[in-house]
Amino acid sequence: MRPGYPGTGLLRVTNVQKIFASSRGTYNALDGVSLTVKDGEFLCLLGPSGCGKSTLLNIIAGFEPITSGSVTSDEAPITGPGRERVMFFQDAGSALFPWLTVEENVRFGLRARKVRKAQWAAIIERYLVMVGLDAHRAKFPAELSGGMRQRLQIARALAVEPKMLLMDEPFAALDALTRRRMHAVLLDIWQRTGKTIVFVTHDIAEAISLADRIGVMSIGPRARITRLIDITLPRPRDVSDGRIAHLFKEIEDLLAPDLERSEQQMQKRNLPLGVAQQ
Ligand code: ADP
Ligand code: MG
Repeated sequence: MRPGYPGTGLLRVTNVQKIFASSRGTYNALDGVSLTVKDGEFLCLLGPSGCGKSTLLNIIAGFEPITSGSVTSDEAPITGPGRERVMFFQDAGSALFPWLTVEENVRFGLRARKVRKAQWAAIIERYLVMVGLDAHRAKFPAELSGGMRQRLQIARALAVEPKMLLMDEPFAALDALTRRRMHAVLLDIWQRTGKTIVFVTHDIAEAISLADRIGVMSIGPRARITRLIDITLPRPRDVSDGRIAHLFKEIEDLLAPDLERSEQQMQKRNLPLGVAQQ
């Protein structure tokens, strides 16, 4: 974490349980999940596909109710989406308005969040410059590359000045090079704005290059956070650095049994309906 942040518990998840109920029965997705995210922290939630990362992030966003436990932001219970928490989507194409220009997309967020009109121009300018899109303000989303669309989504999210960015595998669809650039852009913005970031990924290398702390999740049913790993190594973190390689191996070993189970579960789901239920 950057110096100067008092480390207060901005977000508190306490003993959360989430049971999904459907006509097929119930599924206990999360059980006994506890986590405190400090003000200004960059936390990655890491775990294999299907372990419950999106479920937990949606709970934090206020999109998904919990079955039991508690989730608070600045000591106030989270009961729905709030201005201080902005969700950031992997598919920028569906998150952005294709009929609005870059600048208008950012402005739309301000109007929707009732920011005073006199402040709009300065806010739009600040964030378009921050993500390097000021020269592209008159373009439409379709005229931008995938990385630029994600940068626009970041600018739009930041413009409403949330305290927390919630990101669900945001760069998973980008090519490797663009993805690395987006990591650098995001870390730079995080350092400049002091936002708290909860970032979901199933990619160990991505978690290691970004996070102050990694919350490793076990696979469900009854998934929970099994380990919290502090990463104090300076950024940018070079994968050829022996300490990084060591950390990677340690996390890989930790995830290995669950990864196998996750693959088996995924395979089962690909079987025809009915067979998957056996
Ligand atoms: P991840 O994001 O880690 O891949 P998810 O949070 O999407 O995992 O899902 C966790 C588990 O909860 C999975 O087994 C998934 O099938 C189940 N699940 C997610 N959403 C629902 C839902 N609306 N109804 C029933 N089961 C769900
Ligand atoms: Mg997910």
